[in-house]
Amino acid sequence: MPGYELFDQEEKRHVNEVMETGVITPYGFSAARKGRWKVRELEEAIRARTGAKYVLMLSDGTASLTVALAAMGIGAGDDVIIPTFTFVASFESVIASGATPIFADVDKTLCLYPDSIKAAVTPRTKAVVAVHMCGASAAMDELSSFCRENHLLLLEDACQAFGASYKGRALGTIGDAGCYSFDFNKMVTCGEGGALLTDSDVIYKKADMYHDHGHDHSNEDRGAEGHPFAGYNYRITELHAAVGCAQVAKTDRFLKIQRKNKKIFKDALADVPDVEFRSLPDPEGDCATFLSFFMPTEDHARAAAGALKSAGIDGTFHWYDNNWHYVRNWDHFKNRNFVNPVSGDILKNMPDYSKATFKSDEIVSRCVSITVKLGWSETETEERAEKIAKAVRSAL
Ligand SMILES: *Cc1c(COP(=O)(O)O)cnc(C)c1O
Repeated sequence: MPGYELFDQEEKRHVNEVMETGVITPYGFSAARKGRWKVRELEEAIRARTGAKYVLMLSDGTASLTVALAAMGIGAGDDVIIPTFTFVASFESVIASGATPIFADVDKTLCLYPDSIKAAVTPRTKAVVAVHMCGASAAMDELSSFCRENHLLLLEDACQAFGASYKGRALGTIGDAGCYSFDFNKMVTCGEGGALLTDSDVIYKKADMYHDHGHDHSNEDRGAEGHPFAGYNYRITELHAAVGCAQVAKTDRFLKIQRKNKKIFKDALADVPDVEFRSLPDPEGDCATFLSFFMPTEDHARAAAGALKSAGIDGTFHWYDNNWHYVRNWDHFKNRNFVNPVSGDILKNMPDYSKATFKSDEIVSRCVSITVKLGWSETETEERAEKIAKAVRSAL
C-alpha cells in the first residue's frame, strides 16, 4: 500500500484511451466514445474479482457508504451502529443519510463484535456498519448471525480492504451491501473513487438512480429518462475509472508483495516478548496492508510508535493519538460542530458523547500499526524488519 507506488504504463494507456475520444463522462455520447466505457469496464472487473452480483462505481468511498445507506432505506429516525475505531467517514455518511450514528466497541480483531453491538442496540437501530479495519476482516460469521437474528441490515465498509477476503468470500460481498474506497492512499487507487457491491436487485437499482440525480438509466437520451426517485450526484468520471482499470488488474501482484513483506515484519517481531498481534478471524484473507500489534500498556505503545518513527519507519500509527481514526480525538463530532444545522432528530437520538470513554480505549490505546509498502526490495524490507524489532524492544 498504496497502489500509486507501482503506477506504470498501464495507467497511462487506459487514461489515454479515454482522452483519445475526450468523453470523460460515464453516461451517453455512445457514438463519440468509440466503445470505450471505463466505468463499466471497471465495474465488470470488480464483479469478476469479487463475485458480487452488482457493482456500482461512485465518486469516493464516503459517497459509497452514503449511497448504500440511502439505497438500503436508512434515514430519518433510524440509528446506525458504527465502530469506535474506523475513519470519520463512518459518522459522516450516517449523518448525511439523516440517521443517527451510535458507537460500539471493537475488540482485538480491531473490528466490531456481537456483544458490543448488543450493548449499542436501541429500538431505533436499523443497521450495523462493520468496518474491516487495516485490511483484514471482522468476524463475519458472528456478525452476520447476530444481524440476521436481530433483523438488522449489515453494511460492510471494506474501504481499506479491497482484495481481502473472509473464508474465501471477498469482503464487501457478505453483508446486505459493501463498499470500497479507491482514494489516493488505498492499496488500489483511482485518485478518488468508490464502489458499492450488493446482490440485492432493489438496493442496486435504488443506488444506481440515487447516485445520478434519480436517472433510471433507461435511455440513450439522458433528457428523456425517467426519475422514479429524487437523487443526488455521486458520479465518478471515466478518467478516474481508467486509472482504476489498470490498478485492479494488479491486485494479485500487490497482494503477493504485501503478504510477503508483512510476513518478514511479523517474523521479526514474533520473538519480541510481550508483543501480541492483532487477532485475525481469517489470516489467509488479510490483504496485508498493515502489521498491527498490541503493547502491554498505552505508554509502551506510545513509546514504541515514537521509537519506530525515530528509526525512520514511516507509516507508523498509534491510532489512539490519531485525529482521524479513533473516537477519542473527534472533538468536532462529539461537540456537535457542524457547518450547518443538522436535523434535530439526529441529535436528539444521539447519546452525549462529549465526555464519553469507551471499553475499546483499553485495546486501541495499546495498538500500533505499521504500513506495509509495495515498492521495497527484499533486502530493504529485511533491513526495516530488523529496525522495527529493535525499536519495539527498546520501548519495552
Ligand atoms: C478511506 C476510507 C473511507 C472513505 O473513503 P474515501 O474514498 O476517502 O471517501 C471510508 N471508510 C474507511 C474505513 C476508510 O478507510
